Amino acid sequence: MDNPRVTVWNEFRHEKSHESVKAVYPDGIHNTIAQAISNSGLEVRTATLDEPEHGLTEQVLAETDVLTWWGHMAHQEVSDEIVNRVHQRVLEGMGLVVLHSGHFSKIFQKLMGTTCNLKWREENDSERLWVVAPGHPITEGIGEYIHLEREEMYGEPFDIPEPDTLVFVSWFTGGEIFRSGVCYRRGKGKVFYFRPGHETLPTYHNPEIQRVILNGVRWAAPTQSAPMVFGNAPSLEGATA
Ligand code: ZN
Repeated sequence: MDNPRVTVWNEFRHEKSHESVKAVYPDGIHNTIAQAISNSGLEVRTATLDEPEHGLTEQVLAETDVLTWWGHMAHQEVSDEIVNRVHQRVLEGMGLVVLHSGHFSKIFQKLMGTTCNLKWREENDSERLWVVAPGHPITEGIGEYIHLEREEMYGEPFDIPEPDTLVFVSWFTGGEIFRSGVCYRRGKGKVFYFRPGHETLPTYHNPEIQRVILNGVRWAAPTQSAPMVFGNAPSLEGATA
């Protein structure tokens, strides 16, 4: 799909309640990400937790080819009904790009089937995200690694299923490593989890991080393919008795 329609979802709570976050993302993390995607010419809308149906109505999702998800302090406030609706759309083929603390979102846990738990530390770590899948579409335009002067540390073990493709592995100054870019297929949908993006740091203003998110969106876009057919099936070659 050449021009996927993108919806950027954000919890949008830290930016209202924490001055340190508002200073970095005055219009919300979603608008920073949406602007970066829109600069590439794609059609983008945003949706946030406190909108009716969290901004993810049937119609919005029907018009969304790829959804990006950032959440942290209010995962439990996301209604199960909306989680099920997003889940269904992923199985039908909608792409999903899960960012940073979205690892603990209901939708990511449901798609993974594991706790998605990890180690973390909010101090003064630097992060180096190494490309471990050279040539993968998500690494288009990225060098050997991305260096972030400051980021929150996430460390292994990361309780996720074995990824279909491991794209980035992070190293942190504390000595930890982390699987920072992982790809899955669920039903007809593609899921990309990308680690960086702590709310008090300007990570989503970083052009390389924006590039990876855009690449992830393009990679996760739906593929035009036949519907999945299940159940009792007649032989295609006549009687098989
Ligand atoms: Zn964080």
